[in-house]
Amino acid sequence: MSSVSPDEPNEGSMVAVVTLLPGPARKRTSRLYSYRLTYRNPDYEANGCVMTWEVEGGRTPYQIAIERAPDGGLRLHCTCADAVFRAEPEGRFCKHIRGFLHLGQELREQGDYLRFAMRAAS
Ligand SMILES: [Zn+2]
Repeated sequence: MSSVSPDEPNEGSMVAVVTLLPGPARKRTSRLYSYRLTYRNPDYEANGCVMTWEVEGGRTPYQIAIERAPDGGLRLHCTCADAVFRAEPEGRFCKHIRGFLHLGQELREQGDYLRFAMRAAS
């Protein structure tokens, strides 16, 4: 389950998303993690930092940065220890980024479903 909610009523571009991920404790019981958009480059096509999101729900808040490389590809970085010391050197994503990507996919699917429902209704 995930949801999108406006963070500030006056700021339509600021969004927060919430998802369940394995928690930081050894038993890894599911915990609620939230992703809050903290920065978005007004020039979406620019190289460098495109967006930053703050991840809450772990031992400490982490930050996910989305950067556009000079070749146009997007890179995702997380500041958690797993990403810095294990996931990035091994070429995989930490659970925060995996959750973030999964959420994005889920929201797109919901969006597609909504568009489909609207088409079907008209
Ligand atoms: Zn992480």
